[in-house]
Order: sequence, then structure tokens, then C-alpha cells
Amino acid sequence: MTPIRRGSKRGGIDLGGTKIQAIIVDSGSEVLGQSRQPTPRDGGPGAVADAIAAALREAADAAGVEPSSLRGVGVGSPGEVNSTNGTVANAKNLPAWSDSYPLGARLAEALGTRVAVGNDVSVATAAEYELGAGRGHASVLGVFWGTGVGGGLILDGKPWHGRGAAGEIGHMVIKRDGARCPCGNHGCLEAYAGRAAMEAEARRRVKHGDKTILFKLMNKHDKPRLTSGVWERALDHGDKMAEHLIDRAVKALGAGAPTESKDITITGPDIAENGAVVPLGASTSLPGVKQVLILVEKNPAALVALFNVTDAVEANFSTRAKMGQSSDVYAVAIMNDGKALYAKKEVKVTLGGCGG
Ligand SMILES: [Zn+2]
Repeated sequence: MTPIRRGSKRGGIDLGGTKIQAIIVDSGSEVLGQSRQPTPRDGGPGAVADAIAAALREAADAAGVEPSSLRGVGVGSPGEVNSTNGTVANAKNLPAWSDSYPLGARLAEALGTRVAVGNDVSVATAAEYELGAGRGHASVLGVFWGTGVGGGLILDGKPWHGRGAAGEIGHMVIKRDGARCPCGNHGCLEAYAGRAAMEAEARRRVKHGDKTILFKLMNKHDKPRLTSGVWERALDHGDKMAEHLIDRAVKALGAGAPTESKDITITGPDIAENGAVVPLGASTSLPGVKQVLILVEKNPAALVALFNVTDAVEANFSTRAKMGQSSDVYAVAIMNDGKALYAKKEVKVTLGGCGG
């Protein structure tokens, strides 16, 4: 076998329900060329694969490289992605895509280079962790607000899937017996904040005789659905229904994110010596607490301790953690309804010994 010499340039694809975005980057992740194409509505996965290949070729053209000379192409795809064999199944926002389809293999053949396929939310969270907002943090929760509400979790440097759905913040129940979610459950965050669910709610309200210009704007701008641009224009016009539904979505998103609370107490010293083992405590007298976590932000392990609260165990815990640098320390209470409340304090770590 002859080893193939490849350059350091790479391709990236964001496969979405409405558009396909392709880029070529150099070794420093600088964008050299790009292309954007609408996602085909007909022809199923085969037509989508052809459109992806065409978008990538166009981006490569703009960057002045041959697709086959690329080190590889990474694809972020919706749906159930098997990264090991590059197949995608149940991509709900893509047309006629329920069966497993070998997207990676088809693209590798069409482009003449290696192709890796990952779930869009997982790869976006990984990108923020490596290059973006999550840089320098050991643990990151990525939240992506679109047609649905996607979430990806990195704990202590590792992508965390739990039993398969950890980090799926969109399907966290924020209201018991609440609005129906596209996933079939009731009261999920996505049922209030996902664009598809918001459109369904707007249609329901119109049926009940409520007034809005949302659908007039949608038709005027020739959009098949209520896109972000349509919502924005409706807000600009002071449309009451749009204002109310966006407000509801923002509140739902807020309920899903951790909230600072006076009812949670974190204890620890204000100042500690470098390398000292520091006593830390977390307590709350709130009812309905499921778990209490103690986190040290600038600690390679981040999670210091996790306690399960039951009727027999009081939510008042203490532990000791070795701290090598100044850091915010958090006490987080996970409530039975899925809400997370926290308190934080800073522990300053000084260089010990010869200072005085
Ligand atoms: Zn759901």
C-alpha cells in the first residue's frame, strides 16, 4: 500500500434542515474558502449527499485546493449519527431520512478523501470547547437554539453522554404536564423554546382567533416556515403574539439554566495557601432537592463531590479539596423538577511559605 501524502487543509460541513454550509480551513483553522447551498427537499439522503459534495467542491475551488488533497472532511449532521461507521438515521429535519444511510462512505467516495461524521450538536460543543466560548474551561454545556433545542455536555474534558441522553437539555422537563414536545413528552424545554414548537403554538392560537402578522410576513418573504428572520421582523413590528411567544421561550431557556439562589449556601475559606487541602461545604434547607454538587471551577477535576439527597439524608455536606490556584467554588442543588440552583464564592489561593 502506498501512503497517500495529504496537505494540512481540512473541510468542514454543517448539514442543516434548510442549508448546507461548507468551508475549507488551514492548519490554524483559518477559513480559506466557503460555499452555501439550500438543502434539497426532494430525492432523500442521496440527493442531500450529492449537494454536500457539490458544496464542498465549490468551497475547495474558492480555496484553490482539490478535495482529494484535503487531510479530511468533517460533517456535523442532525439525527442519530454512528461516528464509527459514518451512518446517519432518523434525521427528522431532513426529507425522507429515517433509515440508516452511509453518508460518510458516500462522501468519501465522491470527494476522494477521508470523511468523519458526527452529531451536529456534539461537534459544535466540541468546537466551542476547543476554539470558542468554552476555551480554558474543563466542563462545558453547549445549548443550541434552533428548530429544536440541542445540548451537548463536556465534563472534565470528556464528552459526556451518560446513558445516551446526558446534556439533552432541550428534553429536560421544565413544567410537569406542560406543553406537548415534538419528542412526544410533555413540558420539555424544547416544547416552549424550539422554533418548530413555537410555530405550532402560533398556529394553534391563530385557529382560536388570535391575531398576528407572523404568517403574513412568512408568506411575504416566501419562507416555508417561521424562520428566525420572520420572528425578528414581527418583533420589529411590535406583534403581540410574537412578543409573548419569544418571552415564553426565553423564560423557558432561563428555567433550564442554573440560577443563582440565596437558598443555597457555600462555605469555605476566603484565602488558602497554595496546595492546601481546603474544607468546602454546601447546604440548603429547600424542599425537593435531588442532588448537591460541589464544583471548583479552576480544578482539573471540576466536580469535587456529588451527594444524593433522600428523606433520610439532610442536604448539608462538607468535603475537602486540594486547590492549586484561586478559583470560584460552586454549590449546585439539582431539584426534583430538573432546575439547578447555585451559590458561588471565591477562594483565593496565595503562594505559601516565604511570603512573610
Ligand atoms: Zn421533548
